[in-house]
Amino acid sequence: MNLILMGLPGAGKGTQAERIVEKYGLPHISTGDMFRAAIKEETELGKKAKSYMDAGELVPDDVTIGIVRERLGKADCQKGFLLDGFPRTTAQAEALDNLLADMGRQIDAVLYIDVDRDSLLERLTGRRICSQCGATYHITLNPPKEEGVCDKCGGELFQRDDDKIETVKTRLEVNEKQQKPLLDFYNKKNCLQEIDGNQDIDDVFASIERVLGGLPA
Ligand code: AMP
Repeated sequence: MNLILMGLPGAGKGTQAERIVEKYGLPHISTGDMFRAAIKEETELGKKAKSYMDAGELVPDDVTIGIVRERLGKADCQKGFLLDGFPRTTAQAEALDNLLADMGRQIDAVLYIDVDRDSLLERLTGRRICSQCGATYHITLNPPKEEGVCDKCGGELFQRDDDKIETVKTRLEVNEKQQKPLLDFYNKKNCLQEIDGNQDIDDVFASIERVLGGLPA
């Protein structure tokens, strides 16, 4: 199974990726994780990626496509893979098609976890963090026993600047704009699978299992 996972920030991609990887034994290929690891290890790739990532911009396509090409060539990808955070541009999607065609393969499904905008805003702006121990909470989805106070250490909870409504709105808009042409691209190829992400975690995963169970063997 050659899969791509897509969804806006807050859609629950990380949680579902973990479950897919565990159940289907696929390697989880996240370009963001690969770049972060390269920066930590101070490799050439890390040096190239860092300035873009720090500025919140996309790493250039040639660099990104290069690392994905190398990764997909590894033995553990023979049986399939779960791409996460790639492709982010139409050029990357086209390059991926070519790369797979060279290997005699193709994308089987693009799982798009779709969550309505208000829920995304609620999920993303409701996060609170303990100023003393760093524990995270959510004002409605995972609230502390006493409002504004950490259950674990009694520290005061605060909202990160990144999680404030205006920043979150901008982040969602930028991501939506980036994502739209890709959804169109895969829709035209008939491999886009919309998953209702407004359900609880187990039900979202059950929807994914149904889609994957229905793919041609
Ligand atoms: P992520 O963890 O997926 O949000 O990625 C973090 C950062 O890594 C992004 O903001 C980009 O700077 C870079 N990045 C990750 N994936 C890609 C990609 N497919 N194309 C370009 N840049 C990427």
